[in-house]
Amino acid sequence: MRPSILDPLFGRAEALPGVGPKTAILLNRLLAKAGGEARAVDLLFHAPINVVDRRTRPTLKDAPLDTLVLIKVRVAEHRRPERNAKGPFKVLVEDETGDAVLVFFLANTEWIERSLPIGATRWVSGRLELYDGHRQIVHPDRVLDEAGLAKLPLVEPVHGLTEGLQQRFMQKAIEGALERLPNLPEWQNPTVLAANKLGGFGESLRLLHHPREPGDIAPTSLARQRLALDELLAQQLALRLMRGKLRRAPGREHRSAGRLAAAIEANLPFELTGAQKRTLDEIRADLSSDQRMLRLVQGDVGSGKTIVAALAMAHVAEAGRQAALMAPTEILARQHFERLEPIFDAAGLSTVLLTGRAKLSERPGLRAQISSGETRIIIGTHALITGGVMFDDLGLAVVDEQHRFGVTQRLALGAKGEAADVLVMTATPIPRSLALALFGDMDSSVLDEKPPGRTPIKTRALPQSRIGEVVDGLKRALESGARAYWVCPLVEENEDLDLAAAEERFEDLKRIFGERVGLVHGRMKGAEKDAAMEAFQKGETRILVATTVIEVGVDVPEATIMVIEHAERFGLAQLHQLRGRVGRGCGESSCLLLYKGPLGEAAGARLTTLRQTEDGFRIAEEDLRLRGEGEILGVRQAGLPGFRLADIVAHARLLATARDDAELILRRDPDLTSERGQALRVLLYLFDRDEAVKLLRAG
Ligand code: ADP
Ligand code: MG
Repeated sequence: MRPSILDPLFGRAEALPGVGPKTAILLNRLLAKAGGEARAVDLLFHAPINVVDRRTRPTLKDAPLDTLVLIKVRVAEHRRPERNAKGPFKVLVEDETGDAVLVFFLANTEWIERSLPIGATRWVSGRLELYDGHRQIVHPDRVLDEAGLAKLPLVEPVHGLTEGLQQRFMQKAIEGALERLPNLPEWQNPTVLAANKLGGFGESLRLLHHPREPGDIAPTSLARQRLALDELLAQQLALRLMRGKLRRAPGREHRSAGRLAAAIEANLPFELTGAQKRTLDEIRADLSSDQRMLRLVQGDVGSGKTIVAALAMAHVAEAGRQAALMAPTEILARQHFERLEPIFDAAGLSTVLLTGRAKLSERPGLRAQISSGETRIIIGTHALITGGVMFDDLGLAVVDEQHRFGVTQRLALGAKGEAADVLVMTATPIPRSLALALFGDMDSSVLDEKPPGRTPIKTRALPQSRIGEVVDGLKRALESGARAYWVCPLVEENEDLDLAAAEERFEDLKRIFGERVGLVHGRMKGAEKDAAMEAFQKGETRILVATTVIEVGVDVPEATIMVIEHAERFGLAQLHQLRGRVGRGCGESSCLLLYKGPLGEAAGARLTTLRQTEDGFRIAEEDLRLRGEGEILGVRQAGLPGFRLADIVAHARLLATARDDAELILRRDPDLTSERGQALRVLLYLFDRDEAVKLLRAG
């Protein structure tokens, strides 16, 4: 039972003062778990991603580029899009030192005329950039007159939004949530707090949402560190409790002569690599022992993790038990199913696919196949751990691309079976220093060898202005049968503008390449997404324009070209993942990184690293080093999911602190019954780690 002190924070966001039904829908879309509703606590943990600093008010000439600025300007001219044209509405503004263009896509003309009448003086804030040599601000986040400006704080937080949601509604909602924040008991060790100069939870949360200076929202700020430490402690406690449960139950021995696995292996069109064989030996030894397996398989993209998992699953199936493979996305689960089903079938094993998108009418049948034990090989998404799926006798749980799952989800699949063995696979090479803290005493195998015959991927970085050459190159490549991905990243903080950009690129390319171009993005309905992926897999489309949905795991060996727009906005690890989508077959592959200059130092270093190496571990270390050196704001980093406030790189030291503390706590008070233990239960609920609380013995 959730401690009642938290009730005000777990109420629906919709019930907060100042949140109307419309805002509530948008907040749900942005912050709630799939199908759920946003709660006050989700607002509190929605950390600002930037600030508007109104303390300095530069002239246009002196205003810094590519960052949020506040400028005082006179409205000079309105430039409407031509009739029926899809172009933006532009407003020309100026001061004594220069001019700039305010750009509005899908503009609300009335609003512009009202808020920016010609001749008026206005304060405008937004991200100032140089475009074709002219200063511009796309979608200013504020347009104010003198009186409006006077009402605003000097340093104002900026939050990630979703289409239709405005900063001020977000801020109102967060204020409402802050008002509900109860005085919570301290769960941290006072000595740890003092040693790190950290303040209280509530105080830190208030400071995060009411920054006094820009640094207050940075990961290195004391406020953010305190909150990160809380989140990390909750995670470490949950991890230990889950693992404790898995380890407490003794494992089972899966006896198999390896006949099915051998049959499968004999049918493969390739030889296993040395690393695959070694990893399989390690896994088989675990499976054959009566110790419970908890093993992490780390292997760079394309290192061939899937077949390793399949052979381990065959081992368990031969022993008469079930094996399940859980993938983080629908696309991946289907892909695994399509690849593996024929392989298992040839060895006489039937396979079932269960995802959230299985038809309602089919679900009972699928579930029955699983619960009766009729089917031993099960592939699916997290639908496998929700919705009351019962296994007959789950012997092995494989979790693919684990970095997309939270700790508890990862282990929850294992908890579905009686002493099920757990194998987690990740393509995110985690520097050893972090792996230990994140996974604790999990055993690990490393696939450090790529299948043979892969030619290195030619990687080039080009300024966006040379996009024409890229298109010409594509024309030639397509004529000789090539297939290409074209990635349009998230650029603005606004999902819909991003989609608009991807759709626009799709239309552009379609004008050139006709029906050979497909599009896939995160907002598409599942079936549409599948259809787009399938058409590309089959070669019906030759160019797949995509947002980062394709980042993880998708395997189309025929694709040999990867174009990434705005590569400067991606983190290194993400670029590496994206590039890993090509170079999977034997054809020569290339990766073109289009960037918008001028490149910052860190962005330049990232692109250089990528050109120099394909070694995921080296890239991960470099990523850590570059990120460690700052560049805190601005670039969207691919942090580890499951964390809302902690950044695994910026807070690596705190992670170690949390790990040590969690160990000590559970050694002294394994069921969290002491006074501090009770406070820690509050912490676990606060960060949605309540599955872990259920594992405690006493209430
Ligand atoms: P990842 O480790 O990224 O999940 P996959 O398991 O999807 O990689 O494998 C990538 C591709 O390499 C697949 O097409 C797979 O069939 C192929 N592959 C796997 N192992 C080998 C091998 N030993 N030799 C040749 N190709 C292999
Ligand atoms: Mg994979």
